[in-house]
Amino acid sequence: MTRRADVLVVGAGPAGCAAAATLARAGRDAVVVDKARFPRDKVCGDGLTAGALPLLEELGVDPASIPSWQRVDDVVVAPPRGRPTTFSFPRDRGTYAAAARRVELDAAVVDAARAAGAEVHDGCALESARQDDALVRATVRGLGEVTAPYVVGADGMWSPLRKCMGVALPGYRGESHAFRQYLRGVASPARRDLWVWFEPDLLPGYAWSFPLGDGAVNVGFGIHRGGRVTVREMAEVWRSLLRRPRLAAVLGDDWEAEGPHRAWPIPARVDRIPLTAGRALFVGDAAAATDPMTGEGIGQALETGMAAARAVLAAGPGAPDTATAAYEREVRRGLARDNQLAASMLRLLRHRRGAELGVRLAGATPWTRRNFARWMFEDYPRAVLATPHRWHRGVLTGPGSYR
Ligand SMILES: Cc1cc2nc3c(=O)[nH]c(=O)nc-3n(C[C@H](O)[C@H](O)[C@H](O)COP(=O)(O)OP(=O)(O)OC[C@H]3O[C@@H](n4cnc5c(N)ncnc54)[C@H](O)[C@@H]3O)c2cc1C
Repeated sequence: MTRRADVLVVGAGPAGCAAAATLARAGRDAVVVDKARFPRDKVCGDGLTAGALPLLEELGVDPASIPSWQRVDDVVVAPPRGRPTTFSFPRDRGTYAAAARRVELDAAVVDAARAAGAEVHDGCALESARQDDALVRATVRGLGEVTAPYVVGADGMWSPLRKCMGVALPGYRGESHAFRQYLRGVASPARRDLWVWFEPDLLPGYAWSFPLGDGAVNVGFGIHRGGRVTVREMAEVWRSLLRRPRLAAVLGDDWEAEGPHRAWPIPARVDRIPLTAGRALFVGDAAAATDPMTGEGIGQALETGMAAARAVLAAGPGAPDTATAAYEREVRRGLARDNQLAASMLRLLRHRRGAELGVRLAGATPWTRRNFARWMFEDYPRAVLATPHRWHRGVLTGPGSYR
């Protein structure tokens, strides 16, 4: 039997659930399918920016329901040479950054989508999809045929829906690639603060350690394609990275690895990828929406998911051209500009001296330290100065998320 929906959402990660919850709250019949069974892990640094936090709050995700949730007050950045600089978020004004295991966060996000009224089918993979003048027709394992006037592609970096809709990018493997590992038993500086190390051979990429509320840390490193270290060489770097003196001084020597390390690509070209195809709108990693400088993509996934849903709601079922044009316009005028600015900052970080200069300037005074931390963690849109349509009262001075 065919399941008819208002919108089919492929992928129940943050992007898909944000789209589905927005649609369901507006009374639309949103069917979400994901090939994985939840709770499922996602290779990630588990860092949540001030860009992601208010959107999670809007979705209805309660940090108290996530055991590994950890608020972060201080970010310590080590330049390629010289002493690390501590960047502190404003105190007593809400949370500006946090970390939470994706296996728990994404399960909470799915719960929030269900609570909003979306029908989420996990363990159900999209197998094929095609569209005609009136509908998208999809075949979903375990569910059969699903038809809808719209489909939202929230199916991640390798987006099977993109292939079905004929807009895959042949040979595309993302702008960067990153390793992640959980550790237990690290020393106290790593348990308390969020650390970023600019190692000369990884530039413009970096290594990180993000503290979790269950005593573990998420450590990893990312490299950019075209940098000094190739994706093939990453395993070799990984073998010795955590024993490098600067990292060992923070992590200690007594840690134990929890589970295997895992790696995954990071797509970051939202300004140069087809965002729509007929009745399909792509969001999150399927729209290559991550920040090219930091690799953060949870906030961008939530933002694009909600934007796609709003465009569909405003256009109605019979006007796909209106919906796709509105969605593209919103992304091109906002997130794409932010990511272009971030990409231009990457040029500075490609070279050791540029990275050192950047950290020194950012750390020059208490004011630069505080505001750099807020800019870095997307407390306001990166390119806010260049996009007046996003200016509003309190955009630079408002309190943090999760008040
Ligand atoms: C190592 C690493 C570290 C990172 N660190 C951070 C960080 O600290 N902070 C941050 O904000 N971002 C980080 N990111 C980026 C972030 O993980 C992604 O941008 C984010 O997960 C994108 O969310 P999404 O919902 O678009 O996709 P995903 O979370 O990838 O979800 C896609 C979903 O689609 C499903 N799917 C795939 N194929 C099918 C199919 N055929 N049928 C049905 N469903 C399907 C998958 O099962 C999956 O659940 C990191 C990425 C990497 C690789």
